[in-house]
Amino acid sequence: MATLGEAKNTIEVLNKYHFIFQKRFGQNFLIDTHVLEKIIRAAEISGEDMVLEIGPGIGTMTQYLCENAREVIAVEIDKNLIPILTEDTLRGYNNVTVINEDILKLDLNRLVQEKNGGRPIKVVANLPYYITTPIIMGLLEKHVPLQNITVMVQREVAERMQAGPGGKDYGALSLAVQYYAEPYLAAVVPPHCFMPRPNVGSAVIRLTLHQKPPVQAENEEFLFRLIRAAFNQRRKTLVNAVSGMDGAEACEKDTANTGKRSNRRRAAERTVESVDEPDNRERAAEDAGKCGRSTISREAVQEALKQMGLSSTVRGEALSLEEFARLADLLSCAEKKNAGSTSAEAAAEH
Ligand code: SAM
Repeated sequence: MATLGEAKNTIEVLNKYHFIFQKRFGQNFLIDTHVLEKIIRAAEISGEDMVLEIGPGIGTMTQYLCENAREVIAVEIDKNLIPILTEDTLRGYNNVTVINEDILKLDLNRLVQEKNGGRPIKVVANLPYYITTPIIMGLLEKHVPLQNITVMVQREVAERMQAGPGGKDYGALSLAVQYYAEPYLAAVVPPHCFMPRPNVGSAVIRLTLHQKPPVQAENEEFLFRLIRAAFNQRRKTLVNAVSGMDGAEACEKDTANTGKRSNRRRAAERTVESVDEPDNRERAAEDAGKCGRSTISREAVQEALKQMGLSSTVRGEALSLEEFARLADLLSCAEKKNAGSTSAEAAAEH
């Protein structure tokens, strides 16, 4: 029976093993049965499901998962927690596998293939907050077969994931998450539901994967770079933020010629890094330099916005995912036309 949701039982286990919380692993264990039940409900766990739990801690939520799902795989980085899980708190369950690994290093596509014949699984976690974004975007971008992801994250991050155009929370993370999934804020969770208490508020968010993306951009890699450029400098108008970035064609050619890791993947990963960090701005510029054969002109952005019926002073935060996809298509198209006329001019000169 699941017992660890009660604070006194958690304390008993921690004392028994002289467990010391590791701040570097983002360890804040859940001690609230209502919240645990809410997570299981939000994830819509049934006896058919295979569930991946990221960071089981001492196994509090794992016990609930084992009692509700067909099978559970729990991936925990902290080796000190493994004997607690396998020899004590999860000993009574025969439908759980504990893996002592860094979730960011695991080949999850392979794991799902091996454990579930490649059929979609569910992910449930009280995430370590220091790596929330890489974990979620890794799952989405690597196209791990998933039905949904139900996770406890910082409240602020949950709000950014589900934000729509116009608000202060809306940005590259909102657009990247919503490209892959539909977010639903299932619960707001105060600090006293954890041990030790985190300094920030938390929330449970469920991301239900789209069968296919809600927008169809001709060049997905370019769409993600455009979004990143638009939010790199939030205060700038879209025309100022986007003009000068390298075009769709340039990077496509670059990838084809060098055979290097797809620029699409790199661009999508960086879309959701904290784009306001100066470091990332430098790297974005560096990327543009590397690809740099064709760049987006101010006129092209102005013309595209005009075609979309948008003001030339509009900022990125006003555009929906659909509008970003349309803008990306118009800019790629303008670039192709431009390249066509440049080669025609060159031919005429000969
Ligand atoms: N699920 C437990 C609970 O709710 O009580 C613990 C949640 S705690 C916020 C995060 C857990 O993730 C910790 O057990 C931590 O050791 C683990 N963790 C941190 N980084 C990890 C990583 N890279 N891979 C796997 N587990 C990780």
